[in-house]
Amino acid sequence: MSGRPTAIRGGALAWRADPFNVPPSEALRFESDAVVAMRDGRIEHFGAAWEVLPRLAPGTEVTRFDRALIVPGFVDCHVHYPQLPIIGAAGHPLLEWLERFTFPAELAFADATYARGIARLFLHELARNGTTSAAVFCTVHAQSAEALISEAEATRLRIIAGKTLMDRNAPAGLLDSAQRGYDESKALIARWHGRGRLGYAITPRFVATSSHAQLESAATLWREHPGTLLQSHLAENLDEVALVRRLFPECTDYVDVLERFGLLGAGAIHGHGIHLSERERARLAATGTAIAHCPTSNFFLGSGLFDLRAARACEPPMRVGLATDVGAGTTLSMLATMGAASWVGQLRGQPLHPARALWLATRGAAQALALDNCVGDLAPGLDGDVAVLDLAATPLLAARTAQVDDIDELLAVLMTFGDDRCVRATYAAGQRVWARDDAGGEAQ
Ligand SMILES: [Zn+2]
Repeated sequence: MSGRPTAIRGGALAWRADPFNVPPSEALRFESDAVVAMRDGRIEHFGAAWEVLPRLAPGTEVTRFDRALIVPGFVDCHVHYPQLPIIGAAGHPLLEWLERFTFPAELAFADATYARGIARLFLHELARNGTTSAAVFCTVHAQSAEALISEAEATRLRIIAGKTLMDRNAPAGLLDSAQRGYDESKALIARWHGRGRLGYAITPRFVATSSHAQLESAATLWREHPGTLLQSHLAENLDEVALVRRLFPECTDYVDVLERFGLLGAGAIHGHGIHLSERERARLAATGTAIAHCPTSNFFLGSGLFDLRAARACEPPMRVGLATDVGAGTTLSMLATMGAASWVGQLRGQPLHPARALWLATRGAAQALALDNCVGDLAPGLDGDVAVLDLAATPLLAARTAQVDDIDELLAVLMTFGDDRCVRATYAAGQRVWARDDAGGEAQ
């Protein structure tokens, strides 16, 4: 991706190691005065200002951010853009919430103009929250995917999205068929997958809303198009788990349904994974399948508490990324989502170290989406995706961050208070794509 050289300067955090593999505090690399230099869409240099500044191309403009923390752009690995209009619709358990709020809202996406308007709002909100990559569910309508992906092309964000596959147990206006779902997905893949920063995700909503024939065709599509993502939902709610048992009596458990239909493996990511047996966790981990941990959604619908420790204790450890799951999720802010993940940890008796929370929202989520060769860290060669966090976004935050002793405490405070107000500027593919009116970055 082309673009003029850009550089930003301020305190910055990058990764030395996976904080689940080393003492978490040792996983972070903090530079109190760093420069991130970007060119042609990628990070060209990252390091201490005194080292990087002499290596910049002549004429490179350097924008300096004081009282700020530069972090890798956030990665939201499970979110539904058509549910933005119903975010906050009063809490009900999953299956009732789908029927009462979600399905009626998704029917409106038969209208391509409406879909385009919501897509624009959604993409703007991602950038405003410092999120530079996302895996996104659309509705069953091919035009809802077309609207989001074509709008995304102009934003520089890395968007992986797919039309939902759904041919049973939903209102008539939200059903396709195995053949139609296959044909429409295939056409969307041909048109969009791998174009610029865009990717396609084959998207059976969950196994209860797809026939056997449709689940088979989803696996066929995935096999036929290496590099595409496969996204769905798994074991979010106990009634849903019971429904899946009734619909697939021949299968041992929920994960066995996915495995028999060929929907496990690296590049597959399933939302939630709360109500799983040890056997199911072991199969997910052994196949390289990822789970999107969606804490605000799980609180909002009362679905349960994800067991991160059990997931990471598998051998190999299960791939886990953090996600908002809007509109059951209550925010598009990954900072707020990190805070919610820490509350899940507290309620489970598994305190979540702030470095691990940041990992799940950046590098871990990138691994879950098989995008770790391009996003989730500040390192030369990776995409120029950066969020600039404001340490003085509110009077209380300014007072509190002035008191912190170390970077762990700073991160803990940011994820406790953090939301869209904390994002001062966002860079995607090496260019600024959003800045608060008072962003205040000064050219030097
Ligand atoms: Zn979801």
